[in-house]
Amino acid sequence: MPSLHVAIIGAGIIGLSTAFELRSRGCQVTVIDPDPGQGASRAAAGMLAPAAETTWGHGILHELLGRSNQDYPGFVQRIEQATGRRPAYLQNSTLVVAAEPADRDALHELVELQSSLGFSAQAVLPSAARRLEPALASNIAGAVLCEQDHQIDPRCVISILSEHLAEHLVRERAVELVRRRGRTAAVRTASGRVIEADQVVLATGLGTVDGGPQLPLRPVYGDILRLQGPKGPALLSRTVRGIVHRDPVYLVPRGDGSLVLGASSREDGNDAVNAGQLHRLLDNARRLVPGIVDCSLNEVIARARPATRDDRPLIGRVDEGLVVSTGYSRHGVLLTPFGSALTADLVQDLPTHPEHTRAVDPARFDNNPPSPTLKEMYR
Ligand SMILES: Cc1cc2nc3c(=O)[nH]c(=O)nc-3n(C[C@H](O)[C@H](O)[C@H](O)COP(=O)(O)OP(=O)(O)OC[C@H]3O[C@@H](n4cnc5c(N)ncnc54)[C@H](O)[C@@H]3O)c2cc1C
Repeated sequence: MPSLHVAIIGAGIIGLSTAFELRSRGCQVTVIDPDPGQGASRAAAGMLAPAAETTWGHGILHELLGRSNQDYPGFVQRIEQATGRRPAYLQNSTLVVAAEPADRDALHELVELQSSLGFSAQAVLPSAARRLEPALASNIAGAVLCEQDHQIDPRCVISILSEHLAEHLVRERAVELVRRRGRTAAVRTASGRVIEADQVVLATGLGTVDGGPQLPLRPVYGDILRLQGPKGPALLSRTVRGIVHRDPVYLVPRGDGSLVLGASSREDGNDAVNAGQLHRLLDNARRLVPGIVDCSLNEVIARARPATRDDRPLIGRVDEGLVVSTGYSRHGVLLTPFGSALTADLVQDLPTHPEHTRAVDPARFDNNPPSPTLKEMYR
């Protein structure tokens, strides 16, 4: 029996990982993207932090984040086995730090929630936090150690997978989904080429394709910096996330001595880097780790997160030939093992976990819809 041919539109971390997953299950894949890896995935810090990301009201999202985090070691190992290259995955934990006594109260509320959800989160005294990370400011008010919150460099994953899938990559924009007999059957690219497929996966982040569903997504921009640490021993050994006057900030140390400092969250529709947000991030980070003023600046970048109303992704079958996998909001890197496996299961029509599938159903907002609803469009 000939193997299934799947056309995947979008080569961000989700599209590439889904292509990798499907190929390892014996499918043929074609990945279509004019600019692989240059969307939200280019900006992402790569924190895999289900505990530190915990907030009230996320419901089942916590379970998906925790589960995907557990799947990461296996995901990384499979990439290494297939490609001979290991993504820069560091299991080096996360310290969440409060700058002021008022921030410490917010932190304690967070620990209660984290513990009630079964995440590992341990309150530590400021002195103990400084023993773990001597670069922390001497006047921090409190800290929590999240031992299972790690990190990966998304750019490294993208570079490995793009190279691995190079001969299956079509560097063009997809302009139209071609529908025949009520189902998606092919993808037309900007040059007019028509790529026939048994199944199409729409993993375009915020990007759109004519004939595709209108998805309930909005851009949430993030400004983020990349710094080079001072010469000598690394400034930090683990991710430090902080709350400074209720403002979140994080510093993610890479294995090469560089640091990622992020990130803002704005919905102003402006895709240029915002100077005021950078100033605020640097100022807040300096309050927690004064030594960052000695770093040099490697890069500033802004990208939009493909966000949904409930922060859960949109993964599901839209017609007999089309599966969508987008809307990963602020958790796309963390959710990559979960999202790519579920998308592949849907493409192959395999049984899926009903509760998880319902939680990410792209039609879940249809009772309170922007018009027209997804179901109406595809009736
Ligand atoms: C500042 C910032 C920090 C972040 N930090 C983290 C973090 O620490 N941890 C975490 O888990 N998540 C983080 N995120 C979120 C994460 O980056 C996203 O959820 C994730 O990258 C989404 O991946 P994606 O592949 O769906 O989208 P994208 O990376 O945006 O990829 C979509 C791709 O589709 C292509 N495309 C679009 N339209 C078309 C078309 N018509 N034809 C062909 N191709 C098309 C684009 O060129 C692009 O390459 C962060 C995001 C930002 C902005």
